[in-house]
Amino acid sequence: MFLGRLRCAALFRSSVCLAARDAYSVMGLERSASPQEVKARFRVLAKQYHPDLNTDRNASLKMAELTSAYDTLMDPKRRAALDQATAGASAGAGGYTGGFPNFENDEWVSPSQMFSEFSDLFGRNSQFRQPDSTAARGEDVSTNVEISFLEAAQGCEKMISLRLKQTCPDCRGSGAREGTTWSKCRVCKGTGVQRKEQGILSMGMPCQRCRSRGVVLDHPCRGCNGESTRMMPREIRVNVPAGVRNLMELRVPGAGHAGCHGGKAGHLFVQVKVLPHERFRLLENDVHLDVPLTLREALLGGEVSIPTLEGSSERLVIQAPAQPGATTVLRGRGPPRPAGGRGNLVLHFLLQLPRSLSNRQVELIEEFDDLSRTKATSAP
Ligand SMILES: [Zn+2]
Ligand SMILES: [Zn+2]
Repeated sequence: MFLGRLRCAALFRSSVCLAARDAYSVMGLERSASPQEVKARFRVLAKQYHPDLNTDRNASLKMAELTSAYDTLMDPKRRAALDQATAGASAGAGGYTGGFPNFENDEWVSPSQMFSEFSDLFGRNSQFRQPDSTAARGEDVSTNVEISFLEAAQGCEKMISLRLKQTCPDCRGSGAREGTTWSKCRVCKGTGVQRKEQGILSMGMPCQRCRSRGVVLDHPCRGCNGESTRMMPREIRVNVPAGVRNLMELRVPGAGHAGCHGGKAGHLFVQVKVLPHERFRLLENDVHLDVPLTLREALLGGEVSIPTLEGSSERLVIQAPAQPGATTVLRGRGPPRPAGGRGNLVLHFLLQLPRSLSNRQVELIEEFDDLSRTKATSAP
């Protein structure tokens, strides 16, 4: 239980209802930043918050926020929409200089591609052997998951069903039929390069027979046609960190398609869709809640029940008089913030008036009003 300490505050329900923190401030970039600058900045920040390297509790949340911001700033349409939304809001402050960079000639690099670069950089997955020229990295997979507002605030675990390329159980990933194995390609003698002599010229061509692998399968596995992987259903457990925001993207390393012939697996990217709550609203880092009061509760005080982000309810003591529009801030009772710490739970008191009045109620209100006037005029 906590005491309702009422503060009469101006009712400034923020008119800038940006669902998430501004992508520019998330990445610490100027509005005029070029795609190259966005990319460079993302590299620096992602290395700092990469969950493989940063064991801080909030790192995965911060990483998800960064990935979403990067996605927004590298997507010309989404960036233009963001600039337009913020231009209206900050026009008075003169923060917006207008004009966004030209994307025409810039190559967009997906965050998943970035992560792949990092994993190579950090030597992750090095347990996978890949000197073999037949090995190929598995593709990344993107999917999405819907979670409730409270699940986002508390963090949750979700099982996701996907069809993914996985190591073929028939050949255990060798690609060869049982009892057989790969053999050296006779055409290129295992070099992968086919030499063609034309007069005095000798030309090297990629070997057609073994597709430059240098080895061939005379008897490919029937289960996977020698590919070593097969599409199969798989359940993946995804840990959604507390404080995740709508449209943030989580990465599950190595949970994408399996690589071929010993290549490392791709990653799984899960975009989180947070469903709205019927009472809680997220604004920036705080959660706002309307608390309707009856005339009696507002004038005389009392106790009301309010829902909490923990999914339970609490008794809140209302101290009289509670002005409609007043707010109470419950510090640290909001969701975790990507930057660390927790946001607040902000209560907005509303006056709930009856839809109709009986004759008796009308009489009493009139009498009440008369008394208020008398009191006002007789006051010294
Ligand atoms: Zn097989
Ligand atoms: Zn060959």
